[in-house]
Amino acid sequence: MDLRESAADRAFRDEVRAFIAANLPKDLKDKSEAGLRMHVHDGQRWHKILAAHGWGAPGWPTEIGGCGWEHGRQYIWEEEMAMAGCPPLSPFAVKMVGPVIAQYGTPEQKARFLPPARSGEHLWCQGYSEPNAGSDLATLRTMAVRDGDNYVVNGMKIWNSYGHEADWMFALVRTSTDGKAQEGISVLLIDMKTKGISHRPIITIDGSHILNEIRFDNVVVPVNNRIGEENKGWTYAKFLLGNERALIAQIAQSTKLVKRIKEIGARELSNGAGLIDEADFRSKLAAIEVELEALRVTNQRVLYEAKTGTAGNGGAILKSKGTFISQALSELMLEAVGYYSSPWVMEQLETGWNQPPIGPSYAKNAMPLYARQRANTIEGGTEEIQKNVISKQVLGL
Ligand SMILES: Cc1cc2nc3c(=O)[nH]c(=O)nc-3n(C[C@H](O)[C@H](O)[C@H](O)COP(=O)(O)OP(=O)(O)OC[C@H]3O[C@@H](n4cnc5c(N)ncnc54)[C@H](O)[C@@H]3O)c2cc1C
Repeated sequence: MDLRESAADRAFRDEVRAFIAANLPKDLKDKSEAGLRMHVHDGQRWHKILAAHGWGAPGWPTEIGGCGWEHGRQYIWEEEMAMAGCPPLSPFAVKMVGPVIAQYGTPEQKARFLPPARSGEHLWCQGYSEPNAGSDLATLRTMAVRDGDNYVVNGMKIWNSYGHEADWMFALVRTSTDGKAQEGISVLLIDMKTKGISHRPIITIDGSHILNEIRFDNVVVPVNNRIGEENKGWTYAKFLLGNERALIAQIAQSTKLVKRIKEIGARELSNGAGLIDEADFRSKLAAIEVELEALRVTNQRVLYEAKTGTAGNGGAILKSKGTFISQALSELMLEAVGYYSSPWVMEQLETGWNQPPIGPSYAKNAMPLYARQRANTIEGGTEEIQKNVISKQVLGL
């Protein structure tokens, strides 16, 4: 495995960098640099700009309108976007449900759902977890009962990200209670405007409203919106979860955070030196950077295995290590901004807040970031579950 970037890859990196410099709207760039909160609609706006250039779905094959880039190129693209402070793109449409529809959907479903997912027109959300079905997802109880050409759905989903903003949900529902729990599950694509769907916000410790509890009361969903075969949804769900775990490794975002911490650390303190000049701080940062570099190589190995068809089970390793690093960096960020992280005022993370900021602008996002990153080791499968997967599938225990 050759880890060096080829001349073609370097040229591609330059092309991406130039495109971002010319096309990222100034207000979004300013927002990112000021450490303000990016909303899902900021990401959607940027997605539409990328899509207009033909870059709406980097990983999809060209036959369905994607860029057909192999994983290495996708990684370069993501790294450049993170380093330039582009708003994060919602993963649900392009990275999660899109590949499932492309692989298992009917021709009608592909024609109907893939173009607006690629263009950023449709926002999607994921309806998997339930109050008593998280790690043990197969015990989910939201029922879909067949009624002619429709299903009637009743039940509840929880920890649903962006359900209050989304146009569509891909949901796991129970269509049979016979046999093993995994055998009675189906995947439905549900229009979030359908009568009988309601949501209750869950405000997280960082003050955000991203999560929701979603209720279904006699929600009618056409059978045509089912992906693949009835009761075979567990296969499609697992296909999707593998993609989700690799996403949470956040290598590009962590690289950006290291750069930011170094910039903050380089600022002069009252003693005339920067925090970065202190041996203790420097050694903590170096230790995390070493871990990040190792993760980058592991990521390349996983991508190489995918390219050569020798795919292992790298998703769980990437997720476990990647979340450890992003949490450690968010802790170091708190250390770097010191007491300026304490007077955290939610409103100053919003555009248009017209009071003078409390503390320097670079400190604004440190505390919410720290709080937000706690969830990294829970979402997309908890740390304990990743360790179970690694011990079984990678170590063969
Ligand atoms: C920020 C955030 C966003 C999310 N977004 C979504 C979303 O959009 N859509 C969605 O469907 N879900 C979403 N989730 C839910 C997430 O997938 C679940 O929280 C996660 O799978 C864990 O399930 P749980 O919360 O029910 O915890 P539980 O499964 O009840 O686990 C509780 C504790 O027990 C441990 N545990 C459980 N089983 C085992 C085991 N076999 N071995 C060892 N330890 C075990 C866990 O590690 C954990 O520490 C989100 C969660 C968060 C935090």
